[in-house]
Amino acid sequence: MPVPPHYATALPEFFHRKVTPTAPPAPQLIALNESLARQLGLDVDWLQSPAGLAFLSRGALPEHKNNPPHGPVATAYAGHQFGHFVPSLGDGRAILIADCQHEDGSLMELQIKGAGLTPFSRNGDGRNTLGPALREYLVSEAMHALSIPTTRALAVLTTGEMVERSDGPVPGALLVRAAHSHIRVGSFQYAAAHGGLDHVRQLADLAIQRLFPDIPADEPERYLIFLQQVIERQARLVARWMEVGFIHGVMNTDNCAISGDTLDYGPCAFMDQFDPMKHFSFIDKDGRYAYGRQPALALWNLSRLAECLFPLFDDDDDKAIEQAQEALHSYDRLFHHHWLAGFRRKLGLEEQDEHDIRLLEHILETMHTGQADFTNAFRMMGSPTVAIEGNYAPLRELFPGNRGHFDLCRTEILHRLTLEKRSPSARQQTMQATNPRLIPRNHQIEAVLTQALHGNYQPFHALHEALKTPFAEADDGLEAAPLPHEEVRHTFCGT
Ligand code: AMP
Ligand code: MG
Ligand code: MG
Repeated sequence: MPVPPHYATALPEFFHRKVTPTAPPAPQLIALNESLARQLGLDVDWLQSPAGLAFLSRGALPEHKNNPPHGPVATAYAGHQFGHFVPSLGDGRAILIADCQHEDGSLMELQIKGAGLTPFSRNGDGRNTLGPALREYLVSEAMHALSIPTTRALAVLTTGEMVERSDGPVPGALLVRAAHSHIRVGSFQYAAAHGGLDHVRQLADLAIQRLFPDIPADEPERYLIFLQQVIERQARLVARWMEVGFIHGVMNTDNCAISGDTLDYGPCAFMDQFDPMKHFSFIDKDGRYAYGRQPALALWNLSRLAECLFPLFDDDDDKAIEQAQEALHSYDRLFHHHWLAGFRRKLGLEEQDEHDIRLLEHILETMHTGQADFTNAFRMMGSPTVAIEGNYAPLRELFPGNRGHFDLCRTEILHRLTLEKRSPSARQQTMQATNPRLIPRNHQIEAVLTQALHGNYQPFHALHEALKTPFAEADDGLEAAPLPHEEVRHTFCGT
């Protein structure tokens, strides 16, 4: 099959601007994802050589197949930010440098985040700093280890210069990330707002070629099928977030990738104690992007995509709108399907019972009132003590806020388990492979970033290493929920 064209080769300049990344004065490699590099066919020794550093820090590549002859570009996009439409956003501090073929056959774009001003920088400085760069590296790779679709982190480099931020100068850094595509809902909004239907079609054609190659070029309903498949991937993705307690934090349409991968690790966080209204982002005062609101927000974003695409479905507008509505209506069903399947797996349920949704909702409500740590409670449910020996006492300890409700909930769980046919040990094993022992907890991230800012990268590397095997048992104590004084209450956008 022919390799789909690069974003900048396939699309006219309307969609991107040529930029020259700013060369950092003294680039230094802090983290290199060697396994990803190999999967992308990049030589690990070369990446650490002066030529490799020039590639990672400013996209300087002697010759690489499938890359645009005109070099790096910043992509244009619009977006609804917190519900308000901003017609021109674009890559203000990210620069697309290359395409790489992953060993799994997919094509991945490489982007440097923090390599200086672009035509879309507006009031920003185009820079990235060490804390947010390491944070994205850690969290996106942890998501990957949890098998959640995500952009990947290839490298973090310090630039050798300080960057001015509201609380003073901080070390400048670059993050090099890989994505199946950086096309977002906001990219389509940009095409629709500033171009027209032809521009929307061009972008959809490229997105289909790169991300949905199974949709045939001569399929008359290809744009409708494209929307349906984006909806399906988004429903699946958000269900996966819910299963691990991930809160994206800034689900604006410009941060919603068409690929169905998690994109933009700004103020994201994993929750500790279960709370459906949990949100961390400092700028999200009203909890618009709280944990429990994410499924509805994804549909809102998809509706913005459908608004751009529907004129491509049919010459008859009414028919096209009806098709778009039908596709959007399928979201709830798809999301609930994935959510229920995912939470059944978390509980180790193989059989299907019509009351499972109510049981699962009750368990979550009991976690909320019981102030249980989401990750540890599920992990404990799948421990041999609870799942094989039937000893619920240590699990009960994790619900200090409401042990009475816990007892009632346990009765319900035990009743439901009588419907299961497989052995408790088989059930326990699936639960251990589904409920992680480790998630990247905010307080641990903050602690290793503080050390890194003092020049000690060892704790960062140790945490990153541990997060590679989130389901394995170990004696490192990293599963511990934060003590009250360790709890992180707010996260900040990657400034
Ligand atoms: P985000 O909140 O990360 O999704 O970013 C929203 C918009 O702000 C995007 O267009 C970014 O490119 C832009 N932006 C964020 N930080 C900077 C920065 N330091 N310099 C220039 N643009 C930025
Ligand atoms: Mg963004
Ligand atoms: Mg961001």
